[in-house]
Parts: sequence; C-alpha cells; structure tokens
Amino acid sequence: MSFDLLQNVHLPRWNRRLLTGFWGIVGLSVLLTAIFDAVVWLQGSSSDIVPIISVNTLRICASLLLVEALHAFLKPWQDYIVLFGAALLAVNLIISFPLTSPLLTTLYLPIMVSVFYFQRRKVVFGLLISLLSFIYLYAGQMTQYSIYQLNELLAMLGALIVGGAVALGIVSRGAELLKFLRNALASEQELRIQNILMDKLSKTDALTELYNHMSFHEYLDELILHGEKHHLDFTLAVLDIDRFKKVNDTYGHRAGDAVLKRVASVLRDMVSPNDFAARYGGEEFAVLFTDTSPESAVEQAEHIRKSIALMKHPELDYQPVTISIGIHSYEQGCRKEELFIGADEALYEAKRNGRNQTVVYNESDQHKKRPSPTK
Ligand code: GH3
Ligand code: MG
Ligand code: MG
Repeated sequence: MSFDLLQNVHLPRWNRRLLTGFWGIVGLSVLLTAIFDAVVWLQGSSSDIVPIISVNTLRICASLLLVEALHAFLKPWQDYIVLFGAALLAVNLIISFPLTSPLLTTLYLPIMVSVFYFQRRKVVFGLLISLLSFIYLYAGQMTQYSIYQLNELLAMLGALIVGGAVALGIVSRGAELLKFLRNALASEQELRIQNILMDKLSKTDALTELYNHMSFHEYLDELILHGEKHHLDFTLAVLDIDRFKKVNDTYGHRAGDAVLKRVASVLRDMVSPNDFAARYGGEEFAVLFTDTSPESAVEQAEHIRKSIALMKHPELDYQPVTISIGIHSYEQGCRKEELFIGADEALYEAKRNGRNQTVVYNESDQHKKRPSPTK
C-alpha cells in the first residue's frame, strides 16, 4: 500500500520536470550547434556552417508539443507518455545528428526515465520502446547513411538490453529497501504500542483496572493547577465499601476480590468520560467529577451509591454490599491536602451516621448530610 503511495506522491510534478528536461535537451542541442557554427566561422570555413534552428530542430519541437498535448489530455497515461516522449526525442536527435555515433546512447533515455516510477512494468515499457526506436532507426534511417557497422548495431542492441536489466535491478533494489523501511516502521510502531501499554499498566490497578493511587494524584495535581488558572469547578468523592472486612471474613478473600472488581466496573461505567475514577487503596475508591457543578456531582455520586446497593453478588449468596461516600468540592485556593481532609471527614461522618449514604463536607464545620441514607 505504501509502495503505491510512493508511486503517486509528487509524480505529476516529476513528469512535468521530465518534460521540461526534454525541452532543455532541445535547447542544449541548439546551443551546441551555435557553438559549432561559431568555431567553424572562426576557423574561416563558413561553408560548413549549419542552420542553428534546422528543420530537424523544428520537428523535435513539434514532436515535443505533441507529447505535451498528450500529457495534458491523457492524464491517466502521463507516465507512459513521458517515456514515449523520451524515445521520440532520442530518435529525433539521432536523425538530426546522424554522424554522431555517441548520440545513440540517448536511446537510453526512456530506460533511465522509467526508473523514476519505481515500477517494473514501466521499466519494461521503457526498454521495449528503446528497442523499438532502435529497430526503427536501424531499419528506416541508419542504413541510408551507412555509418554504422552491423557489429556496432548489435553491440548497441546488447547495450540497451543490459541497460534495461540494470534499470530493473534498480527498481527491485528500491522495492527491497522500501520493504525494509516498512518493516522497520512496523517494529517501531509495535514498540510504541508496547510503551503505551506499559504506560497504561503503570497507571492502572491490576485487580480493578481503574486508575491507581499514583496516577490519581498526578491527575489531581494537574487539575488543581488548571483550577487555579482557569477557575475550573471540580468535586472529589471518596467512596468506601461498608464493612468489607466482614465480607472477607465470611466469604473469603477471593469473593471479596470479585466484589471489588464488580463495584469498580460499575464505577467505571457510571462516571462520564470527563471524570476520573481510581482505586485509591484497599476497598476505597476516589472519583473526580470535572466540568460539572457540585450539586450535579452529588447527584451522580448518589446515583452510583444506589446502583451499587441494588447489585447482588453471587459470591456473597446474592447479598449486596453498600458504600459510603464523602464529598468535597474544590474552591479556588483550596490545597490538595485540604480537599482530601474535607472528603475524608465527610466519609467518616457517613460511616458514623450508619453507612450507605453520601455526606457533603460543609466548610462551617458542621457536616451536612445529603440526601438522607437509603437503606
Ligand atoms: P467500614 O465500613 O468502616 O469501612 O468497614 P470495613 O470493614 O470496610 O473497613 P476496614 O478498614 O476495617 O477493612 C477494610 C478491609 O478491606 C480489610 C481488608 O481485608 C479488605 N481489603 C483491602 N484490600 C483488599 C483486596 O484487595 N481484596 C480483598 N478481598 N479485601 C481487601
Ligand atoms: Mg470499608
Ligand atoms: Mg476503608
């Protein structure tokens, strides 16, 4: 897939550059002809002077214009048209300068250009079009000038085939490199995923999969920092399972673990994505309700408490467990310790008042119970 991506990225731009390059080759041939004429003129043999822009030059320009037109209108075939243009240019140049045998090497042009696309089928096309151009030159044009010996021509044929083979080799090597790169990228991604998983593991509690004590404090520190700057409202709720020691003593530690997991999953499902639920330690949980008013946080906590109280646990002979909740809402300037002390005091009050209830910490030192316990 990424190989295809490479095929398409910037290719139209490269095709344009290649076509411009072809025009550059024409310009170069005109310049070299002018230099040739200047040298001949300086040597005093003006009879050897050739027209700087000959009929052949005009023919090359006409064929390149044709290629430009095809390139503009046949967009899906642009790559092949550029390769065709390279062959046309090579053939025309050889016809324009038939006495210059090194020009035969320009027949390499379509093969070299085909490597740009890093696709075997285009290299094969480049090679075929080079060979066809060569056959055309040999059959139609070169014989009349009879400047090449048969062995030279055969050597040229061989050279073209070798050129094509090298180009195919380059493309294969490119594919190999790309594969290597893709594998390297994949293993890097795997490593990154592993790091994320490790990070998650270090932040969550193994039994309940809620955030652990440490990450809870990290998050709270950040929240307080934000709260100071941006006047954020948030509420801390500390939740503790009632008489959990008795659960362990009666039904065993395993049953206790199953209950802890179930209570945690209710918590996870009931808090909104903006809230943060953690296992604070033992049978104690903490929730940070963010982006919500203190009143609404109390309502949500109550909803959680009631849902847990209604849940029956097969491990406890289908008995429910209850929780007590202490709540303290953050206010500007409140320190973390104060926030916790308030929530803990409210929780203690809930326990003292008979458990299975939510108590909101009241600044004026009297703890206001709200709402009345559900039993
Ligand atoms: P209270 O209503 O006052 O909170 O009573 P409690 O029995 O819940 O409180 P206490 O602090 O006396 O006991 C907490 C118990 O929680 C003690 C411990 O065995 C149990 N506990 C703590 N962590 C785990 C755990 O990971 N698994 C199990 N099964 N039990 C745990
Ligand atoms: Mg408890
Ligand atoms: Mg406790």
